Amino acid sequence: MPPTAQERREALKAVLHQARECTRCPQLAATRTTVVFGCGHADADLMFVGEAPGRHEDERGLPFVGQAGQLLDRLLGQIGLSRADVFITNVLQCRPPGNRDPHPEEVEHCREYLVEKLELVQPALVCSLGNFATKLLRGDPAGITRVRGRDEVRVIGGRAVRLLPLFHPAAALYTPANVDVLRADFGRIPGLLALGPPPQPEAAVPEPPAAPAEAPEEPRPLAVAAQLGLF
Ligand code: URA
Repeated sequence: MPPTAQERREALKAVLHQARECTRCPQLAATRTTVVFGCGHADADLMFVGEAPGRHEDERGLPFVGQAGQLLDRLLGQIGLSRADVFITNVLQCRPPGNRDPHPEEVEHCREYLVEKLELVQPALVCSLGNFATKLLRGDPAGITRVRGRDEVRVIGGRAVRLLPLFHPAAALYTPANVDVLRADFGRIPGLLALGPPPQPEAAVPEPPAAPAEAPEEPRPLAVAAQLGLF
């Protein structure tokens, strides 16, 4: 039986408690104020993945609360959504000192948390914001300028999702023309949500045992119980 939304929410809380104690990246653990796990709807159809917390996010423990976040809120409003409708997180949960780029090993350390969030929230559509999230979730080094606005289906952590790479709102802040691009790309979100989740990959089904050449003896009850995994 697949877990219920309530069970997934409880499991997400357990991941949050684990993340709060995380010391996988010694420098980030030493310099952060808070772990910025993510926020929003634990059963959202739409998830945004940014790069890493900045100063304001680190202080408040919430993603996208600075200027880039205000732009994100406006873009969401334009398509009739608010933060409460979506789940927002980042590739890294801790602020890199001085807002430097995430290091590859930090991305690797935090990847497991991101995959767990994806598996537990189960969004149908994931929007990667900027290069770091896009490269990580596509598993491909193609830059955001090449792939933005092109939706595709990707299997991440065993689940298929629709992925829509978008410019990072912070980048758009410095290049006003990119705000128009971002607005146009956001306009694609309602249509993609209306498609619902993509078909999920078949769960791996174990090979049935090869048929015996001759009819076997009738199995004894104990042996049957063992085959059923009761011991
Ligand atoms: N930029 C990000 O990538 N994430 C945030 O949470 C804030 C700014």
